[in-house]
Amino acid sequence: MSRRPAVVGSFLEELEDLSRRSLLRKLPDALEAPGPLVRLDGRELVVLNGNDYLGLSRHPRVLEAAARAVREVGASSTGSRLLAGNLSLHEALERDLATFKRCEAVTLFGSGYLANLGVLGALVRRGDVIVGDRLNHASLIDGVRATGAHVRHVRHGDLGAMDRLLAAPCEGFRWIVVDGVFSMDGDLADLPALLDLAARHEAMVVLDEAHATGVIGPTGRGSVEHHGLTAGDLDRLIQVGTLGKALGGYGAFVAAPAWVREVLVNRARPFIFSTALPPAVLAAAREALAVLGDDPGLVARVQARAVFLRTALADLGIPVPPGETPIVPVPVGPADRALDLAARLRDSGVLVQAIRPPTVPPGRSRLRLTVRSDHEERDLERVVTAFRQELARTGPWWRDPDPEVPCSGKELDAT
Ligand SMILES: *Cc1c(COP(=O)(O)O)cnc(C)c1O
Repeated sequence: MSRRPAVVGSFLEELEDLSRRSLLRKLPDALEAPGPLVRLDGRELVVLNGNDYLGLSRHPRVLEAAARAVREVGASSTGSRLLAGNLSLHEALERDLATFKRCEAVTLFGSGYLANLGVLGALVRRGDVIVGDRLNHASLIDGVRATGAHVRHVRHGDLGAMDRLLAAPCEGFRWIVVDGVFSMDGDLADLPALLDLAARHEAMVVLDEAHATGVIGPTGRGSVEHHGLTAGDLDRLIQVGTLGKALGGYGAFVAAPAWVREVLVNRARPFIFSTALPPAVLAAAREALAVLGDDPGLVARVQARAVFLRTALADLGIPVPPGETPIVPVPVGPADRALDLAARLRDSGVLVQAIRPPTVPPGRSRLRLTVRSDHEERDLERVVTAFRQELARTGPWWRDPDPEVPCSGKELDAT
């Protein structure tokens, strides 16, 4: 009889500790298919925990385009872009995305996570300085760490602190790295001010547009469009967008001046050493962009749904920040209470995600609600009713949001 390897006990202890602190992650119930509403255990639930903001993942035109690409091109790209994997569909999608983002060149990546690792790893070198926002997405945090550059994260939105850090002498180049729409708070980076900072300090900006693409700006082109910037403002801007959120597919892209593409093709390891995106995914993304172009009402609709839900929850007295992004954070505080609240809402037919540390700082657990353009007003009324009932049952559950949780920044910078 073999003895249990010693490593097993150490992990079981760690997992038990997470469970005691209400921080253990578990997979939610598997769905037959995603959508604005789902059936689970014979009941219909309103889905507020996905990123398919425009409902494009099941749009008939998108599905048909994907199916046709499989029949005509195949199931796989069969290799890296630098080997046999470079298909006409890759280059066509890159051209479509460059037009959509109104930038010089686009380079596809396997996912947003890989794109962030790739772009930071390729462009930032040892000796450079990176300043980031404390609430940046984990893939940016991992990406900047891997560069070996000097990394500092400032308090959320603290451009004054960024200014001071960028003013320090630096032997290499300076980089500002932020989310365009913050994934857990749903607020926006002040891109015009960041580009201004960049110009003053001879820095470049890497902007993660995962939750901005297809969602903000009058036609869904993202932060640049939202803030009314034009081509002349884009010299210092490198955008990372994803295909797996509002575009309803999978994969990611870097939209930037032409020189960036040349560097990525030569230096970005997740681009060079990984199989290129498959035909179905490429064709689906092209068609999703075409649907978006044909129906700009999609974007207006998701923005209107977001305003509706934010306003209705705020009217109940819940401190939901105003805004127009479809990511609606409902503050809670302790992790166990966020889990409890999510479970009770589920019983009332509303599927929401409890977000806990380490995704958010300790004491700032919350529910993250995401609306879609294909949520009907009556679906969102059901959501509001569920919150109203909880409020009547338990009274206010949120603790005063404390924007200063010093430990998260220290942990981030301890590289
Ligand atoms: C989802 C997300 C990513 C990762 O993108 P994937 O394509 O899912 O790997 C990167 N950045 C942000 C801000 C995200 O929300």
